[in-house]
Amino acid sequence: MDITVTLHEQAPLKPRVGESCNGCGLCCAVTLCPLGRLRFWQAKGPCPALAWDQNATRYVCTLAKGRWTRRWIAAGTGCDCSYQVD
Ligand code: SF4
Ligand code: SF4
Repeated sequence: MDITVTLHEQAPLKPRVGESCNGCGLCCAVTLCPLGRLRFWQAKGPCPALAWDQNATRYVCTLAKGRWTRRWIAAGTGCDCSYQVD
C-alpha cells in the first residue's frame, strides 16, 4: 500500500532497518507508536508530537523527554521502521 507523507526538505534520508535512527521522521509521519496513540487517540500519522529541530536538522519527539518515555518509544536504538521510501 502506498502512503504519501510530507517531510522537511532537509530531513535526512531514512537509514536501513537496524541502523542508527537519524531522525528522518518517516515512521512517526506514517503512524503513531503506542505512546502517541495513548496520548493523542489516533493511529494515523503524522503524530502531533513529531517536531522538526532546525538546529539538529532532524525530527524529534516532543513526548520523549523523560527516561521512561524515551525507553517506551525505544529512543536511541536502531531504526525499526520497515517502510520503503520511493
Ligand atoms: S526510527 Fe523513524 S525517525 Fe528513526 S530513522 Fe527510523 S524511520 Fe527515521
Ligand atoms: S509519540 Fe513520539 S515517537 Fe511516538 S509516534 Fe509520536 S513523535 Fe513518534
